[in-house]
Amino acid sequence: SVTAVAAREWISRFAEVIDQRAAELTELDRQAGDGDYGTNLRSALRRTRTNLAAGTEESAQAAFTAIANAFLHTGGTSGPLFGVWFREFAKAAHTELTATVLADAAQSAVDIVRRLGKAEVGHKTMVDAMVPAATALRASAEAGADAPAALAAAAAAAHAGADGTADQLALRGRASYVGEHARGVVDPGARTVALFFDAARPDVL
Ligand code: ADP
Ligand code: MG
Ligand code: MG
Repeated sequence: SVTAVAAREWISRFAEVIDQRAAELTELDRQAGDGDYGTNLRSALRRTRTNLAAGTEESAQAAFTAIANAFLHTGGTSGPLFGVWFREFAKAAHTELTATVLADAAQSAVDIVRRLGKAEVGHKTMVDAMVPAATALRASAEAGADAPAALAAAAAAAHAGADGTADQLALRGRASYVGEHARGVVDPGARTVALFFDAARPDVL
């Protein structure tokens, strides 16, 4: 399972990975949106680091609450949607984060994002990576995989989902305003979901 220390390190690694990839993600949002994605994401992760540093409690729940609150207080369409997504992981983390607990959390998390964003698979959003990740976590849990193996499967599925957004015509968000111009561009929100699951691996950096 994912321990308190592992959860904190996972989130810290995610922040580092995003620092490294922010320019590339912003470029995707520039091609298909308004080009503020990396800025929005980095300010959320700066706030996450502040929250983590301010927290006295060392628990997986505290770590996920730190990132959830940071995103909930961030502008852009992606901020609140990632905020509610992470909040479901925080809620689940009152107990040991096993593959099954992670699969349950990922399912309720994507259900909320779909409802709030009115986005489904194929609309070229973060949902296109969140749904396959949740499905992979479930399949891994049912096959008896441990949490690290389930998270690795989720990362692979999320990357495949993100890759698939390049072929899609956006039906939600700003990318939907530019029509065919967004064709060929991977959705930055979907890529970010995949990078989050990648960051669960200690050797990702
Ligand atoms: P903004 O369009 O407000 O500048 P951001 O740049 O912060 O938003 O975030 C853009 C990302 O938000 C997209 O890459 C996409 O993944 C996600 N997104 C946009 N609209 C929706 C929606 N309705 N439902 C789910 N995700 C969405
Ligand atoms: Mg944007
Ligand atoms: Mg914007």
